[in-house]
Amino acid sequence: MKQNSKPIYLDHAATTSISTAVLEAMYPYLTESYGNPSSMYSIAQEARQALDNARQICANVLGSRSSEVVFTSGGTESDNSAIMGAALALKANGNHIVTTSIEHHAVLYACELLETLGFEVTYLPVSSKGLVDLDALQSSIKSTTTVVSIMYANNEIGSIQPISEISEIIKAKQTQYGTKIAFHSDAVQAAGYLDLDTNKLGVDLLSLSAHKFEGPKGVGLLFIRRNTPFIPTQVGGSQERDRRAGTENVAGIVGMSTALRLAVENRTQNFEYVSAIRDHLINSIFERIDNCQLNGDYENRLPNNVNFSFKGVEGEPILLGLDLLGIAASSGSACSAASLEPSHVLLALGLSNDLARSSLRLSLGPSNTLEEINSVVDKLQPLIRKLRTLS
Ligand code: PLP
Repeated sequence: MKQNSKPIYLDHAATTSISTAVLEAMYPYLTESYGNPSSMYSIAQEARQALDNARQICANVLGSRSSEVVFTSGGTESDNSAIMGAALALKANGNHIVTTSIEHHAVLYACELLETLGFEVTYLPVSSKGLVDLDALQSSIKSTTTVVSIMYANNEIGSIQPISEISEIIKAKQTQYGTKIAFHSDAVQAAGYLDLDTNKLGVDLLSLSAHKFEGPKGVGLLFIRRNTPFIPTQVGGSQERDRRAGTENVAGIVGMSTALRLAVENRTQNFEYVSAIRDHLINSIFERIDNCQLNGDYENRLPNNVNFSFKGVEGEPILLGLDLLGIAASSGSACSAASLEPSHVLLALGLSNDLARSSLRLSLGPSNTLEEINSVVDKLQPLIRKLRTLS
């Protein structure tokens, strides 16, 4: 029977709830100061001022100029426009793009779309732990390479890529060929836990999405380093210094900047707390459930990510069973045409179709408690046992 009490939410990589502070910061821009920031009168100028402040807050976190921050509708748009915008702008130099096989579909499908327009894309392999092969990266870059897109942290297995090291490799290749190679990183999952200083990371373009760090849905940003060749893919108005047309989502942007500031202020504390309960969850699953494996790297892993495969069970019944027990989680599989497609990320690690289909992602947040984690394992163990006897 479905439980009525508040669910145990272990799907923070999918989305998060927005905090009261964020909601309160947004409220005036939905009610009194609702003007269009491009208009002249006072309520519009209040909105313009809020936009400028929000941009400065985000720039402070990114260690960038405020003019390098472009507000978007979220991670998907930021990824799409980064890759297409840079590839199109650099087309005269070459048509080669390098990415990895474990990117989010917002990156992979943008690359596939460019392939249909004559671009060539190299999808780099990753190790069995989900880390990009740096030798393969080095040898993949050639004189026609114009864009490299490698995610900071993976959404399914939490693996963290060495972005600064990757940037050094790209810079050396740039010097060797005397051409510009725009380096983009999808930092959507990294934002709440990892350093976002764009100079330390050495990126030209970086994507963020507010709803992954307790901001509202439908708003994000794209950092575009000054002088990075970029053609806007969303056109119409001259907003965002001609890099992204469309009336700005002022309340959403204010919410995002507030959430980002709070996430950074609480980062160290959240990192320590969430990794401690994450480790407890991983250890408890290993102790209590046999025939399971942790997917992804343990060391270079987001503090909130747990991804297990349970031999002999499909991910979907685990999720349905957990839902009935009041636990919200996710599997790596995507439903398509009535069949469960195994995750492209888990397949890229070398998992068999069956093991990839038997995965469960539990993504934690600072509001989760140790009691919740214990309760999840208490429910997961008999659930897996029952599903195994049924299959
Ligand atoms: N990139 C990564 C790594 C993600 O995890 C997500 C969302 O799950 C996105 C991009 C897309 O972000 P949005 O939902 O804001 O479009």
